[in-house]
Amino acid sequence: MSSHMLETFLNESLEDLKGKGLYNVIDPLESPNGPVITINGRQLINLSSNNYLGLATDERLKAAAKQAIEQFGVGAGAVRTINGTLKLHIELEEKIAEFKQTEAAIFYQSGFNCNMAAISAVMDAHDAILSDELNHASIIDGCRLSKAKIIRYKHSDMEDLRARAKEAMGSGHYNKIMIITDGVFSMDGDIALLPDIVKIAEEFDLITYVDDAHGSGVLGEGAGTVKHFGLSEKIDFQIGTLSKAIGVVGGYVAGKKNLIDWLKVRSRPFLFSTSLTPADVAACKRSIEILMESTVLNRKLWENGDYLKKGLKELGFNIGNSETPITPCIIGDEALTQQFSKKLNLEGVYAKAIVFPTVQKGAGRVRNMPTAAHTKEMLDQAISIYDKVGKEMGVI
Ligand code: PMP
Repeated sequence: MSSHMLETFLNESLEDLKGKGLYNVIDPLESPNGPVITINGRQLINLSSNNYLGLATDERLKAAAKQAIEQFGVGAGAVRTINGTLKLHIELEEKIAEFKQTEAAIFYQSGFNCNMAAISAVMDAHDAILSDELNHASIIDGCRLSKAKIIRYKHSDMEDLRARAKEAMGSGHYNKIMIITDGVFSMDGDIALLPDIVKIAEEFDLITYVDDAHGSGVLGEGAGTVKHFGLSEKIDFQIGTLSKAIGVVGGYVAGKKNLIDWLKVRSRPFLFSTSLTPADVAACKRSIEILMESTVLNRKLWENGDYLKKGLKELGFNIGNSETPITPCIIGDEALTQQFSKKLNLEGVYAKAIVFPTVQKGAGRVRNMPTAAHTKEMLDQAISIYDKVGKEMGVI
């Protein structure tokens, strides 16, 4: 029999969420996560994945994964520090470092895990972290785990950041101070002001940490936001995930050799959790090779992003201030946003509603993530469905 306390807590909390319309029902896919997906037997144009370059279903990655299974089996067998480091793991780390133009790299089982691992390996209760208020949940949790003092600054507000950096430095309370930011903010598609962040970091000798989950494979011809600004030498931690543009799973830190050496002896998910499987690692490596060989997919992604943005803007939708292919359609009211997304779905477009608390109250949006794998016909169809639903609901 389960605990009465637990039962009460779960039932009340679930009812509360459902009552507020905040209980998320998950739709399982009956197809690969491509530009068109099948859910409940219905085909939908998919504008909700992070599979920016379409590599999640790429034949070259599938072939690399199959070959790795034949050669190395399906599991790494142990944590990396015992005997779970395959030659393939090292090769992937070398490839990531080459891709990011850093001395070295280390990868983890996910991007989320990577932030939990890396921040707490370097920062502790005697330190402070200046964190953009819109940073991703995994950054927030990684900061909390470190026990450092978290000082939030207003989103991309460099005056606020500088004032808080000055105050933290002047207080004399902290041994180390870090600035931490997303490279690209995933809800709006805006880019962090890295040149200004680097200037402030240099003025006060701060550590810099950029989580480029949504910039890698997208900006800097694929190499990411740091490369886009020509700052590869200036950012201490370049974080990325292997699950979005790269198309597989995992997360990494690229940086100086001494930083990576330290993470290999001190970051807990590396030390105490088994690493990615041979298939994952081989597919990630192949994916990065493809990205380094050619910018064809990257250019297609931008072309599709620009096309979708133009189409939705011309219809009269508020698409915010995105500087990347991420295309929010800001509706405002939470209930209306949910309803809008449901209607799109009924008409054949899968674009999820994102509402409070993921974004601010009253800033509900349907977020569109076009990819390199979408055809013009798919995007045209999606735009015409937006037109129909927008007019029916009085949103445009
Ligand atoms: N950081 C950021 C900025 C992200 O957007 C995400 C993914 N939502 C993650 C980390 C986590 O990445 P992963 O899905 O690989 O765990």
